[in-house]
Amino acid sequence: MKFGGTSVGSAQRMKDVSKLITADSEQKIVVLSAMSGTTNTLVEISDYLYKKNPEGAYNVINQLERKYMDHLTELYATNEWRQKTEQFLKEEFSYLRSLTKTLFTSFEEKVILAQGEIISTNMVTNYLLEQGVKAVLLPALDMIRTDKNAEPDLAYIREHTDIQLQANPDYDIYITQGFICRNAYGEIDNLQRGGSDYTACLIGAAIEAEEIQIWTDIDGMHNNDPRFVEGTEPVRQLYFEEAAELAYFGAKILHPTCIQPAKFAGVPVRLLNTMDPAAPGTIINNKMHRGTIKAVAAKDNIICIGIQSSRMLLAHGFLRKVFEIFETYKTSIDMIATSEVGVSVTIDNRAHLATIVDELKKYGTVTVEERMCIICVVGDLASQNIGFETLAMDAFKQVPVRMVSYGGSEHNISFVVAEADKQRALQALQRTLFTYNDHIRRPA
Ligand code: ADP
Ligand code: ASP
Ligand code: MG
Repeated sequence: MKFGGTSVGSAQRMKDVSKLITADSEQKIVVLSAMSGTTNTLVEISDYLYKKNPEGAYNVINQLERKYMDHLTELYATNEWRQKTEQFLKEEFSYLRSLTKTLFTSFEEKVILAQGEIISTNMVTNYLLEQGVKAVLLPALDMIRTDKNAEPDLAYIREHTDIQLQANPDYDIYITQGFICRNAYGEIDNLQRGGSDYTACLIGAAIEAEEIQIWTDIDGMHNNDPRFVEGTEPVRQLYFEEAAELAYFGAKILHPTCIQPAKFAGVPVRLLNTMDPAAPGTIINNKMHRGTIKAVAAKDNIICIGIQSSRMLLAHGFLRKVFEIFETYKTSIDMIATSEVGVSVTIDNRAHLATIVDELKKYGTVTVEERMCIICVVGDLASQNIGFETLAMDAFKQVPVRMVSYGGSEHNISFVVAEADKQRALQALQRTLFTYNDHIRRPA
C-alpha cells in the first residue's frame, strides 16, 4: 500500500492511514510519501543554498520545523512517544541546518530532498508503535537502488528487500520510504518527483505481491485531467499498457514509469482514494477490453524539433544519423512524424538542446518549437477498430495541431499542440469522446 503526500498530510490523515493499514490482519508493506508540500519546501531550501543564501534556507528550515512540531500534540497520546518523536525531529532539523554550512552540491541537495520521507515514515511508525501495532520501519536506502543509467536495479531491489524482510520476520506492518534510493555509487538519490508510486511498484514486483495499492486523494484514474476539465469520471479498469501510456503522457496520479515493473511481474495495481476508501477506484491489470476509449492525458514542456532535408531524407541511413545525435546526448524521443522531405520529433529534456540542434544542422534545416504539449488518447485504438481515431481527430477541429502519431501501439493516438491550446483541446476531447457519443461504450 502506498500513501501519497495528501494522504499523510496532517496528524489526522496519519491516523486515518494507520486505521486503513491495520483494518485487516494481512501482512503488508506500506510505502509513504513526505507530508504534502514538504518536498517542495525542501526544493526551496536547496534553491536558496544553490543561490548561496544560507540565511534564506535557514528561515525556511525553521518554519518547516515549527510546522512539524505542531503535529506532535495531535498525533501522539502519550508523553513517551511525543518526546521520542520530538527528539527525532530536533535531530532531523539540526541535521538540515548543518547542511546550510557546508559546500552545496547536487549531493547535498539529494540528501535534503530525502528528509521528507524519512520524517513522515518515522512519525507514522512511532504512532503505530504507540498504538501497540507490530510495525517496523525498513530503510528504503537499504533496498532501493538505481544503476549507472539511473534505472532501478531490479535484481538488487529484489535481493535487498528479501534480506530486510528476512531480518525482520513476523511483523504485521512494514513501513518504508517512497521516492528515495541510493544510486550506482551508493549515494543518496531519488526516483524523481512523484517517485513514491515507483517505489511501491518496484517493491510490489520484487516480492510478487498479490496487489499493489496506490492510495491518493482522488477515486482512481479519471478519463481526463481533472485539473483542467470539469466533469471527468473515474475509469474502473485499465490494461497495463493503457495505464503505462497515460502515466508516461502526463496523468499525474501515477509516476511516469511506475507501471512497468508491475506489468513485467504481472502484479495488478489498484488506485484508491484515502478520503473515500469505499470507492471502487481503478484496477490496472492484464485484461484488455476492446471497443472503448478509456482516457486522455497531457504532457507539458515538450520541445518539437523539425529537420527538413529534401536531399537526405530518402537516403538510407538518414534517420539513423538523426537518432544517433539524440542517443549521444542521452535524450529520449517521445514522438516522431516523417514525410518525404523531413522528420519531426519531440523531446522533453532540454539539457542538451543547443548541442543537438547544432549537430542536426549538418543534415538539414532545423526548427525548434518550445512550450508544446503532447495530448494522448488511450484505449482500444487497434487499426481494425473503425472510427475511434476519427472521433479523437474531430476534437481538434478548432485547435492547431503540430504533429499526430497513430499506430505506434494499439492503445494510443497522440497529438502535439501548443501548451496554450492544451486546456481547450482537453475540453473538446471530453465532449467528443465521453459526453456526446453514446455509441462509444463507457469503461465498465
Ligand atoms: P499523491 O500525492 O497521492 O501521489 P498526486 O498529486 O501525485 O497524489 O496525484 C493525484 C492527483 O493527480 C489528483 O489529485 C489529480 O489532480 C491529478 N490527476 C491528473 N490527471 C489525473 C487523472 N487522469 N486521474 C486522476 N487524477 C489525475
Ligand atoms: N515526496 C516526493 C514528491 O513530492 C515523492 C512523492 O510524493 O511521490 O515528489
Ligand atoms: Mg504522486
